[in-house]
Amino acid sequence: AAPARSFAGADPLAVLREVYGYDAFRADQADIVDHVVAGGDAVVLMPTGGGKSITYQVPALVREGTGLVVSPLIALMHDQVEALRANGVRAAALNSTQSAAERSETERAYLSGEIDLLYVAPERLSGAATTALLQRGRLSVIAIDEAHCVSQWGHDFRPDYLALGDLAERFPGVPRMALTATATRETHREITDRLRLPDARHFVASFDRPNIQYRIEPKTDVRRQLAAFVRAQPAGSSGIIYALSRKSVEQTATYLRSQGVDALPYHAGLDASVRAANQQRFLREDGVVMVATIAFGMGIDKPDVRYVAHIDLPKSVEGYYQETGRAGRDGEPSIAWMAYGLADVVQQRRLIDGGEGDLARKRRQHQHLDAMLALCETVECRRVNLLGYFGQPAQPCGNCDTCLEPPETWDGLVPAQKLLSTIVRLQRERGQAYGAGQLIDILRGADTERVRKLGHQTLATYGIGSDLSDQDWRSVVRQLLARGIIVARGEYGTLALGDAAAPVLKGEHPVPLRRDVAGRASAARVRKT
Ligand code: ADP
Ligand code: ZN
Repeated sequence: AAPARSFAGADPLAVLREVYGYDAFRADQADIVDHVVAGGDAVVLMPTGGGKSITYQVPALVREGTGLVVSPLIALMHDQVEALRANGVRAAALNSTQSAAERSETERAYLSGEIDLLYVAPERLSGAATTALLQRGRLSVIAIDEAHCVSQWGHDFRPDYLALGDLAERFPGVPRMALTATATRETHREITDRLRLPDARHFVASFDRPNIQYRIEPKTDVRRQLAAFVRAQPAGSSGIIYALSRKSVEQTATYLRSQGVDALPYHAGLDASVRAANQQRFLREDGVVMVATIAFGMGIDKPDVRYVAHIDLPKSVEGYYQETGRAGRDGEPSIAWMAYGLADVVQQRRLIDGGEGDLARKRRQHQHLDAMLALCETVECRRVNLLGYFGQPAQPCGNCDTCLEPPETWDGLVPAQKLLSTIVRLQRERGQAYGAGQLIDILRGADTERVRKLGHQTLATYGIGSDLSDQDWRSVVRQLLARGIIVARGEYGTLALGDAAAPVLKGEHPVPLRRDVAGRASAARVRKT
């Protein structure tokens, strides 16, 4: 590593070359750096991998004083500081995991102007002591990373971020930057308002990642689907596979290993040393596949991740986009692959309903999930749907599954009406509500013990849907859920009429549904009878 020294007053491009070894600034980077070096505030919306770090680090180095970086994750902070130090930058962190001695050394170094980049957790900044300390030294710029955490409508709200609104009063004259890879209009507006950046210049990059091919398929046998996907990738490809639970991470890694894939598990329940070793192998070797819970990958800079796979449905489009963004940072062709099923949706609805928070918060979480499902079930270009969600209009991309293999659709109006009237009859005639399984059994006229015990064979709609297979019906249910024609409620995922049910019951418009689940599943297995 180069000896640490001050870059105050240096030319930004010279700093970029000397410290980072890059030839040129990317797209917006130069403008952002110039604007902030000149003392302006900035709101920077740039996709994951876009190169946000440079936009605050270079001004922090070039301007006189210390750049303060507010970052929500202590583990990340440590990695970033280490990486900067390795490049010869005078960087440090202030956080709760430090010893008193470490902390006072960092404080001393800050006050004597020996630090160019100082990372702090947001909760540190809400304390008067840290503010007083920082006021005694000199700040060059304040960068608020992961700024979407201030948004209550977003997927990652952190109350500590709200206290960052008065930084302008606490540190007058210090340029402030808010940076995020989440860019819905709502979040953008909240960042600007709550972090009080009325005069900031806004730098909104395109959120398109053209080298990523989006592929989403319904779950039939997820382990086999995943193994087939992984094996279809060129030998030596690195990948990340996201699962929601530790157990599923473990089982998936074990299964893939049994299939000859060099897969490693990564989750918070593993020993820190095992986690570190697995991460090192993933970073250094080719062809390692990391099976991980969503926490993995934040701040991990591996440019040649060739695919990101999700075997459980992400909770929001923002989360999905952030996670898939870890593929192909080097710009080479990469794949975002996902398999999702009805059980995912029911489970997540249940978690939301049983979780913490008031009704408004739960409604928001349901809305996030609905948007995610709409992406899964769209019959149009995935990229158009995804970018549309972030308020960026786009043309069909020619590089996603729906563009490459347009899904076959069929009019699901009649089955939808059959399902809706079964739900209505159960409710009106018996005061009952059931989940998808029982409703499908009724529609298909199944002769099960439960049907007989509940007397459901006497319902007028019993057997009126026997023209569709069980799989077909599950696909119908999922797609109607995605469109809000039905909703799943409570612990058991009981189905009820959604806001969009009325026009369907009246037969006002067709209900185009994807045929793919039904088609593939029935082709792939022999019908029972
Ligand atoms: P973000 O924080 O937006 O996700 P990073 O700041 O981590 O993105 O940058 C993503 C990757 O791009 C990193 O590997 C980084 O070193 C690289 N990078 C950033 N700016 C440049 C540049 N001007 N030239 C070459 N590589 C760059
Ligand atoms: Zn497309």
